[in-house]
Amino acid sequence: KLYNQVQDLKGKIRVYCRVRPFLPGQASRFSTVDHIEEGNISIITPSKYGKEGRKSFSFNKVFGPMATQAEVFADTEPLIRSVLDGYNVCIFAYGQTGSGKTYTMSGPNELTEESLGVNYRALGDLFQLSAQRKEVIIYEISCQMLEIYNEQVRDLLTSDGLNKRYPFPIDVVHSSNGINVPEAVLVPVSSTSDVINLMNTGHKNRAVSATAMNDRSSRSHSCLTVHVQGRDLTSGNVIRGSMHLVDLAGSERVDKSEVTGDRLKEAQHINKSLSALGDVIASLAVKSNHVPYRNSKLTQLLQDSLGGQAKTLMFVHISPEPDTLGETLSTLKFAERVA
Ligand code: ADP
Ligand code: MG
Repeated sequence: KLYNQVQDLKGKIRVYCRVRPFLPGQASRFSTVDHIEEGNISIITPSKYGKEGRKSFSFNKVFGPMATQAEVFADTEPLIRSVLDGYNVCIFAYGQTGSGKTYTMSGPNELTEESLGVNYRALGDLFQLSAQRKEVIIYEISCQMLEIYNEQVRDLLTSDGLNKRYPFPIDVVHSSNGINVPEAVLVPVSSTSDVINLMNTGHKNRAVSATAMNDRSSRSHSCLTVHVQGRDLTSGNVIRGSMHLVDLAGSERVDKSEVTGDRLKEAQHINKSLSALGDVIASLAVKSNHVPYRNSKLTQLLQDSLGGQAKTLMFVHISPEPDTLGETLSTLKFAERVA
């Protein structure tokens, strides 16, 4: 109990762990996940000497392979509500490639009502909650969609990405209106179908690069940023809040002896930005005077939404297969560090 209180005081970041189910047609059904109970997960770790061990990790919550999209989103609602009250919120998906990050944030390729991911559900809640307040406050909601690849920020909603070259890199600046990438297209949205259209444009833009430079969706961070501005009808006061929904690049370590050239460069950039993110969250947790936001484009972009009054939630994903055990353990260790 006391331990939990100390944990609550330590950082404002909430960490939820999600275990992906086995995929249809997968031969192996032996899971490295031994046991899940509320916030605890234990992993089977065969030792070098043939003796099995267990390693346990604790988080705010652990979702097993059977958890539905609705269940995974359920506890996130209070965070969404706070955006309308003028808070900045950041929701991350972390994990190795193939562990389910995009599934959690967006959903599977073929979307159904039940399979909608966090992005759609969060915006859906914003539409619904803002409509409930319309007698008192009038809200405007708009989105940007960015990608960070090799430490360069690109606009995924720009129209010239669709047919011509890949969008050119743009800058992160800090402005008082909270729109820190002013060059990126800002699209007003008012319904889930608006959001689906916008996400489709973003995905198409990303796919353009994929044919030219191989699939890079797993090697770049993508960020859907929602800007909310509310005007109080009686006082005329303006409230601003924002929400970053971030599908991070795959966290797997690449073997330096196996990759060279562009792949090595990509890997180093990913490594650098994910450790910069870990460092920022860890130094916020210990209330350090110096928070190293400037060490990566990712942390610069999210600066307003990490620390201070901002609220952060990280979904940490693991795969159940034994051959990913090494990555599973390093993912869980990363997550414990920021929790
Ligand atoms: P990542 O974005 O981390 O690389 P994906 O979200 O693309 O991983 O997931 C890899 C595959 O597993 C996809 O085919 C996806 O649809 C499937 N998948 C991931 N999580 C789940 C889940 N919770 N339930 C069912 N299928 C899932
Ligand atoms: Mg993905």
